[in-house]
Amino acid sequence: MGFGDDIITTSVVKRAFQKINAPVCVGDGNRSHYNEVFRNNPKIAPVPYKGVQWVHSYKGNRPYIERIEKDRWVYKPDFRAEPGEIYLSDDEKRFGPSVGPFILIEPDTKTAAFSKNKNWGRERWQRVVNALPQYKFLRMRVTGVGLNNVDDVPTTGIRDGFSMVHRCRLFVGTDGALHHAAAALGRPAVVVWGGLASPVNLGYSTHINLHAGSPPCGSLMPCVHCTFELEKITVEMVCEAIVKAIDGART
Ligand SMILES: [Zn+2]
Repeated sequence: MGFGDDIITTSVVKRAFQKINAPVCVGDGNRSHYNEVFRNNPKIAPVPYKGVQWVHSYKGNRPYIERIEKDRWVYKPDFRAEPGEIYLSDDEKRFGPSVGPFILIEPDTKTAAFSKNKNWGRERWQRVVNALPQYKFLRMRVTGVGLNNVDDVPTTGIRDGFSMVHRCRLFVGTDGALHHAAAALGRPAVVVWGGLASPVNLGYSTHINLHAGSPPCGSLMPCVHCTFELEKITVEMVCEAIVKAIDGART
C-alpha cells in the first residue's frame, strides 16, 4: 500500500473537486498527507487552508477497505476503482531511453509478507518474455536482478516509473502502483491478479485482468489459497492477453 493507494485517492479527489471547484486536502482532517503522486495536481492543496475540504485517505484508512482484522484486510465489496489522475511535467513526459514502441514489464512485487500473495514469480515472467521475441520489453530498475532480454531503465523513483508508463504501448505486471498509474495515464495493461485482492474492486475495465475469480482473501500473511490462484494464470494466458491488447490498441 502506498503509491497505488494515493493514485486511487486522486480519483476521489477528482470527484470532490468537481463538486466544490476548489483544491482539497488529503489526510485525516487535521494533518495533510502529501505524496509525490500528487505533484502538479491542481486539485490537491499540499497544506490546509481556511475552509478546505478534506478527502480522508491515509495509511490505515483507505477508501476501499472496510476494516482491518488481525491478519487480513476486509475490502468494501461495493468499491469500484475509477482511474485516478497523474500530472506529468513536459520533462517527465520525455524521460527514458530513445527507443521505439515498448512494453513495460514489472515482474516484482513489494517485499511485505502480503505481497507474496500477488507475486506470479520471475520464472513465469521470463517465460512470457521468451515466448514473445517480437516485442521489446523494458523494465524500470528498482532491484538489482533483471530479466533476460529485458532492458533495464535506471530510475530514481516512482515519478520516473510514471513516465515509463506514459510512454509504453502496454504495461504488464501485477496488481500494484503501476497498473493504477496505467489507468490514470490512459495506457492499456495486462494485469495478473492473485487471491489477495479482486479486479472487481481494484482493477479497471480498460485493462485485461487475469484473475482466477475467487473472492479476495485480504490475507496479510503468505497464503496457500493465493498460491493456487496465481498458479491458475498460465504463461499462455498472459502471452495471449498481451498479443490481444497490442492488436486491440492498433485498431
Ligand atoms: Zn489468499
